Amino acid sequence: MTDRKSIQTSLIHSDYVAPSGFGAFPTAIHHASTVLFKDVAAMRSRNWQEKNAYTYGLHGTPTTFTLEGRLAEIEGGNHCLLAPSGLAAIAMVDFALLKTGDDVLLPDNVYNPNRELGRWLTRDYGITARYYDPLIGAGIAELIQPNTRLIWTEAPGSVSMEVPDIPAMTKIVREKRAAGQDIHVAIDNTWSAGLAFRAFDHGVDIVMHALTKYQSGGSDVLMGAVITQDKELIHRIEMAHMRLGFGVSADDTYLVLRGLPTMKLRFEAHDAGARKVAAWLKARPEISRVLHPAFEDCPGHLNWKRDFTGAGGLFSVVFNERYSEAQTDRFVDSLKLFKIGFSWGGANSLCIPYRIQNMRSNWQGSGQLVRFNIGLEEPGDLIADIEQAFSALG
Ligand SMILES: *Cc1c(COP(=O)(O)O)cnc(C)c1O
Repeated sequence: MTDRKSIQTSLIHSDYVAPSGFGAFPTAIHHASTVLFKDVAAMRSRNWQEKNAYTYGLHGTPTTFTLEGRLAEIEGGNHCLLAPSGLAAIAMVDFALLKTGDDVLLPDNVYNPNRELGRWLTRDYGITARYYDPLIGAGIAELIQPNTRLIWTEAPGSVSMEVPDIPAMTKIVREKRAAGQDIHVAIDNTWSAGLAFRAFDHGVDIVMHALTKYQSGGSDVLMGAVITQDKELIHRIEMAHMRLGFGVSADDTYLVLRGLPTMKLRFEAHDAGARKVAAWLKARPEISRVLHPAFEDCPGHLNWKRDFTGAGGLFSVVFNERYSEAQTDRFVDSLKLFKIGFSWGGANSLCIPYRIQNMRSNWQGSGQLVRFNIGLEEPGDLIADIEQAFSALG
């Protein structure tokens, strides 16, 4: 120790480098705001957009680059950006691709905060957000205007569960793009975790995920991702990512990385459990419709059958019209294993009633809609819980 430092300096400087020759499965958690450059030339030559080197914590660390790379690979894309929540990922796409005078189309069953974002863009930013019937398919052609830049899709809508005909829509948009229009299709692919629906294979340009759900699997982290195959497109979105300052925490990134190895097994277990519970509900007189894409009651079921390989844990039911909201609220309150809360994709089953008539412009029927997230509990126990809660309907 020839070159002694003052305590103050020693508190700050250390010669720590990760030991070479140390191998382990987990990705290291790199916390960083400042990223160090070897010299001025290195600082000047690095391009934050190329992700070929590190420039600043907000633009990426080895931990976030690892998650981005893995998510792109899992989805069948080439480029990925992380955002602090699923909703932030949606907003990042909107702010990247829309400007005053532009038009965006959203499905009428869209994730409600995305609908609210559309309203805000319309009211305060001079962008028009219009809502289409989620089962419109090729009919989307009639709604596309010369200033339409973006079409959001959701497969399926996460409350009312209509499964759209994505290939029919992406075909139209590709034709428009070939004719010179700057227009893209984005999908909120959260429901299928990118496992049950391979969005890029069906012509989608931008895939968005709420990693909050199946990727993390722990009900303990909020994060979103945007994935593309096209480099120019990700660069446009990256400008919004940079300008909005969308960083994610290293610890949260680690939690999502930790969830990935078990995601497919968990998803399949959620799927099997949900189908058992949904099949039991289908046979019950209290329930008039089971809105689960694998069931024929579900609008767009044939699209699901053609394009999807699985279903996951989320579905809804519509109660018989003879039950009032007060009665179905009592049912939800009487559940013991199912807890009341938003979100899904974790090990715990959840249940939540929605006032669907207020959420949709042309919802048919007056039965109460209740959404279930089937967790990883034994399905027989969940069914017994629902059965005992039915007695609270009166
Ligand atoms: C949860 C969710 C989001 C938003 O994700 P957050 O991380 O909660 O912001 C977006 N779309 C769908 C379909 C979701 O379920």
